[in-house]
Amino acid sequence: MIKANNLQKSYQMGEINLEVIKNLSLVINEGEFISIVGPSGSGKSTLLNMLGCLDKPTSGEISVDGQDITSMNKTQLANFRGEKIGFIFQSFNLIPVLSVYENIEYPLIMIQNLEENERKKRVFELLSEVGMSDQANKFPNQISGGQRQRVAIARALVTSPKIVFADEPTANLDSKTSYQVIDLMRKMHKEHNTTFIFATHDEKIVSMVNRIVTIVDGEITDDKRISK
Ligand code: ADP
Ligand code: MG
Repeated sequence: MIKANNLQKSYQMGEINLEVIKNLSLVINEGEFISIVGPSGSGKSTLLNMLGCLDKPTSGEISVDGQDITSMNKTQLANFRGEKIGFIFQSFNLIPVLSVYENIEYPLIMIQNLEENERKKRVFELLSEVGMSDQANKFPNQISGGQRQRVAIARALVTSPKIVFADEPTANLDSKTSYQVIDLMRKMHKEHNTTFIFATHDEKIVSMVNRIVTIVDGEITDDKRISK
């Protein structure tokens, strides 16, 4: 599903060249439920953003679902992302002026030529799957953090992406809500065989995944598969 070969990412900070990802290679297969772990600042988000086509490596190649993404231009990348990839962020990143319904509908409007009826059906399916059907007309500031993350999960999955990236998705949630959100993501993973790639050190997530890749200072130091 994802092949990264000799990835390198550096930032030029004045005189200093900060090498954040160092010659990293990684293969992730379809249907994996995997977490990238490592200390804060080790490069987890940087790696996730590159694998998720949000950011480009300084050098190296990435292929996603059989396509070389490192050679794509911005428009091609945006279309590719829209079709294949969903994102869930620590801070939910909902659009405040859009209702819950409209937030979930948004990716469908942006990238897929669906009839309004078709869109509506799809949004309501997802609302129901994340247990938010009765909150469709509320706005993000009228619902709790856990509910916001449910909406974000619905938004990430509404296009039926092959891969979902989730960067610290439970970092702003209390423990009980975290468990509910994790259960929900696991259910989505099982029912749709969606590949989930987390970046987190939340033990609640790490104990659920079937593979743990550790990165320290931009390099993979451990790659462990856990049979469930
Ligand atoms: P993690 O997600 O593991 O906490 P990050 O990928 O966010 O780590 O960051 C890794 C390193 O890269 C950090 O030292 C961070 O300061 C640096 N970094 C990230 N983004 C940028 C940027 N846009 N410009 C300069 N340095 C950056
Ligand atoms: Mg991070």
